[in-house]
Amino acid sequence: MVAPPRLVLVLGDQLSPAMAALRAADPARDIVVMAEVMAEATDVPHHPQKIVLILAAMRHFAQELRAASWRVAYSTLNDPDNTHTIAGELIRRAAESGAQEVIATKPGDWRLIAALGECPLPVRLLPDDRFLCPEADFARWAEGRKTLRMEWFYRDMRRRTGLMMEGDAPAGGRWNFDAENRKSARADLWRRAPLRFAPDGVTRAVIDLVAARFAGRFGGLEGFAHPVTRADAEAAWEDFVRHRLPRFGAEQDAMLAGDPFLSHALISAPLNLGLLEPLALCRRVEAEWRAGRVPIEAAEGFIRQIIGWREFVRGIWAISGPGYLDRNALGAARPLPAVYWGGPTRMACMAAAVGQTRDLAYAHHIQRLMVTGNFALIAGIAPRAVHEWYLAVYLDAFEWVEAPNTLGMALHADGGLLASKPYAASGAYVARMSDYCAGCAYDPRAEGGRPPCPMTALYWDFILRHRARWASNPRMGQMLRVWDAMAEGRKAMLRAAAAEVLARLDAGEVV
Ligand SMILES: Cc1cc2nc3c(=O)[nH]c(=O)nc-3n(C[C@H](O)[C@H](O)[C@H](O)COP(=O)(O)OP(=O)(O)OC[C@H]3O[C@@H](n4cnc5c(N)ncnc54)[C@H](O)[C@@H]3O)c2cc1C
Ligand code: SF4
Repeated sequence: MVAPPRLVLVLGDQLSPAMAALRAADPARDIVVMAEVMAEATDVPHHPQKIVLILAAMRHFAQELRAASWRVAYSTLNDPDNTHTIAGELIRRAAESGAQEVIATKPGDWRLIAALGECPLPVRLLPDDRFLCPEADFARWAEGRKTLRMEWFYRDMRRRTGLMMEGDAPAGGRWNFDAENRKSARADLWRRAPLRFAPDGVTRAVIDLVAARFAGRFGGLEGFAHPVTRADAEAAWEDFVRHRLPRFGAEQDAMLAGDPFLSHALISAPLNLGLLEPLALCRRVEAEWRAGRVPIEAAEGFIRQIIGWREFVRGIWAISGPGYLDRNALGAARPLPAVYWGGPTRMACMAAAVGQTRDLAYAHHIQRLMVTGNFALIAGIAPRAVHEWYLAVYLDAFEWVEAPNTLGMALHADGGLLASKPYAASGAYVARMSDYCAGCAYDPRAEGGRPPCPMTALYWDFILRHRARWASNPRMGQMLRVWDAMAEGRKAMLRAAAAEVLARLDAGEVV
């Protein structure tokens, strides 16, 4: 008797032939199910470029699978009443084919994991082994530790992978070369802009579909030029390695109004979709350093982002469960101000970070953490609303990576699970690391002349609002002592400025 086919679910961010579900299946017997469904495009108002990216990459991957002799049942986004769901598509495909079982790789989103759990068909859920640290290993590492710190996890990952190791010791004698990084940057005509990829016919059809179905969303589709195939993702990666990696470390934390990319890699989206493979990227970067083509601080800094931060946040997401999305340790409750959706603002830093997000669906880490994230933190914006914004607006945003970065790193909403202290900063930080402040209506140092910077006023307000909490935190306690030693006149000026900013936010007025 011929065994009935099984359905092999491939989600939009699982576009690798090495996915566990594909490895566990048989092309001669099984049917791959890929589905463009409204439920996945409307859980939050995703940026149109992000929807195009995912659907175009899915359609190209379906072609790749068919060329490798897989049968692919592919549903395009055609439901007129917007009710199709992943589970619904599985049930429909099972009825069509006689399949009685689903093989799936664990999604990176608690909502979908629950939906598969409730699917009436039996679903065999396999671990997503694209990550270098399996969930169970992270859970074991975390168990019994009083605090979870990325730096210790990262060292274990260096030992585990052997990346940039000389025997048991870190290459160059140190684990972390960040002291050589964190420089500001200047406009530079020689800094190579990232490669752009002209859409082919498949991608153009998706652009037309998204333009018609998602009109009016935050973000345009003009000039869509992101890589949507494995070959293009590899070309984008090569371009980074050759032209921007040498300056990656030094310019990592800098922000320039006229250069949204600086020396960043722009690979998070293809990496998260499955078009690139993390260990291969790190090995390549190490080889570039060993060949003397990039400085150690650039190579180590890049590898730390991938095997350190990326794996660490994924581990935090996995051990925390769906309840993590509702964490709000600081009790922040303000609604998300209109500036996040492109509303007017006099803050040059917010205008630059949000404007770039609207146009490109991209902002680099420091813009996300120290501009939009910092403002949300110190203004006390409700974490859930901030999480939904980040999940919606960035090309690379998937819950497993976005939620811990937003709720843990940027907002301290997890009470310190991910980071020992909040990444709160005043306008002085933005002035040091960017050229935004020079053209701003506000004075970052709040020393007179222009009105005091909202980041600076709210920074101190934030420290004081949670004074009791910081008393036992060495780094934050130090800031309380700086406040206590400040002249009374300056304190009164900063408090009044903060009260005014908060009142304006609460009244929906421009800040
Ligand atoms: C509030 C907030 C939300 C974020 N949301 C996302 C998200 O939804 N998806 C996402 O992939 N990253 C997210 N990040 C992390 C980081 O900002 C992006 O990975 C990075 O900006 C992507 O651009 P790039 O490829 O040019 O990165 P580069 O700066 O060139 O870094 C290289 C790679 O390192 C990895 N990386 C660096 N930092 C992190 C980090 N903190 N967490 C995970 N991976 C990291 C990424 O894969 C990135 O592509 C977020 C950070 C913050 C502060
Ligand atoms: S002065 Fe303040 S509000 Fe203006 S750009 Fe600088 S940090 Fe942003």
